[in-house]
Amino acid sequence: MLGLYVHVPFCSAICNYCNFNRGLFDGALKARYVDALVAEIEGAGRSGRSGGADTIYFGGGTPSLLEPEEIARIVDACDRSFELARDREVTLEANPESVSRERLAGFRAAGINRLSVGVQSFRDDELGRLSRLHTAARAQAAIREARAAGFDNVSLDLMMWLPGQSVTDWLGSVEQAIALAPDHLSLYLLEVYPNAPLRDEMARARWSQAPDDDAAAMYLTALARLDAAGYGQYEISNVAKPGRASRHNLKYWTDGEWLGFGCGAHSTRAGARSRNVSSPEEYVGRIVRGEPTAAETRVLTADERVGDALFTGLRLSEGVDLEAVRVRYGVDIWGRHGTDLDVFVREGLLVREGSRLRLNRQGMLLAHEVMTVFV
Ligand code: SF4
Repeated sequence: MLGLYVHVPFCSAICNYCNFNRGLFDGALKARYVDALVAEIEGAGRSGRSGGADTIYFGGGTPSLLEPEEIARIVDACDRSFELARDREVTLEANPESVSRERLAGFRAAGINRLSVGVQSFRDDELGRLSRLHTAARAQAAIREARAAGFDNVSLDLMMWLPGQSVTDWLGSVEQAIALAPDHLSLYLLEVYPNAPLRDEMARARWSQAPDDDAAAMYLTALARLDAAGYGQYEISNVAKPGRASRHNLKYWTDGEWLGFGCGAHSTRAGARSRNVSSPEEYVGRIVRGEPTAAETRVLTADERVGDALFTGLRLSEGVDLEAVRVRYGVDIWGRHGTDLDVFVREGLLVREGSRLRLNRQGMLLAHEVMTVFV
């Protein structure tokens, strides 16, 4: 089954740490962009690129800036163009300041059945340093409004290793998240990119990130606390209540196939990968002129496909099944990399169980180093 990804590149303000493909909200452009999305999805249906799909994921940007009627048009276009499974998972990423109980009820009626709320922190001082538009109280209200609007599958995102954040501050946010009883949580380490405005602000205000050892403690302590609260870790950055793992994101990590719609969206299908043009204006223009939206399409080499299967599979707590990789790609991974991998096994970062290879939590902290073996 395919996953369908829909990119919505608009935000009410640009956060000082963000390096996603996004821009400031523009109502006129948004209206043309939604028309273009519907046209691109319907075009995929007509061109025979469609098929069975069981997930739709609205990511951004801030997809909750679209109106519920616009979301409904896009979901309907997917429904007309693909054989959507009855038990489809349809996720909307939402920022707390952009929702209300009425808007959330509208999204629910439009076919959204999973909400992923960008909370990031439950401390107003931290949210201020990240230039986020919402407060902790608004984030809490958004989660309650989602439940009241009928969402029984709610995820929230938190970020750790924020400027000025102590381990205690971080664990306070984790406790507040647990108190709201979401079905799923994503925990990310803040990465301060070289040209992010946040980097200059940190230098001016003398905010710094805690030492690396504290970042590791933030990660490991939060996961231990979430274990105790009934959340199972299934991926480096994701935990969920039983049965609530993100079915859409699992397609990325289990060597699945997906189609991306909208500017900058990636698709991977039948061993080929393509990426749409990044600019929303250029994307809309190409749709209007009837031109292809892909900036780049290429067939992956066998080595790239194996590399992707390993990179993404090792992100999962269950790891990657080397026998399945051998059957699918004809490559004996242990035969090829066993000597290098064994170093990590002996260091207690990598675990070999039958034909499976997986990182333990210590190993997940050093995942990049382990994965260099495959480069
Ligand atoms: S809301 Fe998200 S996508 Fe938009 S600027 Fe902030 S971090 Fe980036």
